[in-house]
Amino acid sequence: MSKSKKVVVVGGGVVGLFSALYLSDSGHEVTIVDKNDFVASCSYGNAGLIVPSHIIPMAAPGMIKQGVKWMFDSKSPFYVRPRLSLELLTWGRKFYRSSTKEHVENVKPFLRDFSLLSKELYKELAQESESFLYKEKGLLMLFQSDKVADEELLAARAAKELELEVDFLSEKEVQELEVGTKVKAIGGVHYKSDAHLYPNKLMQYLLKKLKDSKVELIGNACVTDIELINGRILNVRTNTNQVILGDEFVVAAGSWTPEISKKIGKKCSLLPGKGYSFTLEKSVLGPTVPSILCEGKVAVTPMGQDLRFGGTMEITNVRDNKIRSKRLEGIVNTANSFYPELNISVPSEKDTWFGFRPCSPDGVPYVGRVNGISNALLATGHSMMGLSLAPATGKIIDGLISNKKISIDIDFLNPNRKI
Ligand SMILES: Cc1cc2nc3c(=O)[nH]c(=O)nc-3n(C[C@H](O)[C@H](O)[C@H](O)COP(=O)(O)OP(=O)(O)OC[C@H]3O[C@@H](n4cnc5c(N)ncnc54)[C@H](O)[C@@H]3O)c2cc1C
Repeated sequence: MSKSKKVVVVGGGVVGLFSALYLSDSGHEVTIVDKNDFVASCSYGNAGLIVPSHIIPMAAPGMIKQGVKWMFDSKSPFYVRPRLSLELLTWGRKFYRSSTKEHVENVKPFLRDFSLLSKELYKELAQESESFLYKEKGLLMLFQSDKVADEELLAARAAKELELEVDFLSEKEVQELEVGTKVKAIGGVHYKSDAHLYPNKLMQYLLKKLKDSKVELIGNACVTDIELINGRILNVRTNTNQVILGDEFVVAAGSWTPEISKKIGKKCSLLPGKGYSFTLEKSVLGPTVPSILCEGKVAVTPMGQDLRFGGTMEITNVRDNKIRSKRLEGIVNTANSFYPELNISVPSEKDTWFGFRPCSPDGVPYVGRVNGISNALLATGHSMMGLSLAPATGKIIDGLISNKKISIDIDFLNPNRKI
């Protein structure tokens, strides 16, 4: 291993925290700086699914056609906020170019290895603590129409070909597996590879672990400037007038990463995909196995005694804080239609959480060193799989900084790739 370095991580979401954890384990002196108080990121209210089953990136054939159809339905799970923006046009063009069969085929095995490594790391962490309620119950993809069944069965066969453990379930078998409540679906796919946890509790556990390991946590400080000399970052500066020096700088700022990378003269094509969730506390009657309700793309996750519902993907900008109640209605209607005994109602604004998924246009994260700046690394772009992929991302970041062997192929994550 290389000698101990001073590493600055910008962004204290789940990706930043896991990067800091493994860097600290390797003996580096780590500082994390976050513009909030470490509880306001996308990493809290998400659906908590760990998904080796998700081997198909968001940019895939059929997505454009489906997306255009959904655009005209105010309750649909996908929406692009129409606006005149160069970023949106560039991102859209790249998304379109990446939505090919060839791209999906190229990426699938690497995404699987990336995900499986992450799951192993979660398993390891769960042996230390049960506090974040890590469970291996798999993930049920439920469907109500023949058309969606066909699509899901195709995806499941692809996963099976890549040696993931998959069961195809009839209507009756779905109900036998889900003992908690009545399910209205014509069948399902059970990905046994998948797991879930309680993200809010995971984040609390990671923060405690980092504090115990003497990682410096600087909250409520927004990085507003970066000093570069001869192709090297010297320091980052915050709106609280702090100047934070370091040997290496990891940018894990989620959907805000493009703003930061601009400051070092680099473009990062990434847009926020806004999603909502709400959580029923102490839910007595409810599903016991996490599921995705495919027609509405709603995730339902039991988290201890609580039950979380998450959904929608609104491609927007980070200033869009509006909660669109029609989309929440879409989530609720889908949940009630698959789980008729639940009978939930649309939550109030105060009970609704939203977060910005950092979406790269080819559906593949950016993890690695930035060309032309010798001590800058990016760790972002995980879109709807940031929680799932965060531990493996942290391991890769540590591997690159500590000059350690990385157990999986990481070329496909290259942040300098041409999309
Ligand atoms: C409804 C919903 C459901 C989801 N479900 C799942 C799921 O089941 N499984 C899964 O794997 N993923 C899921 N996701 C996606 C997942 O939540 C994200 O991919 C993940 O949280 C991204 O983590 P991150 O650390 O990259 O970014 P974030 O969590 O957004 O963290 C970025 C941090 O950077 C900080 N920051 C930004 N700019 C600056 C600056 N200038 N200076 C200092 N700090 C800065 C921010 O304050 C923030 O804390 C879901 C997302 C949503 C919205």
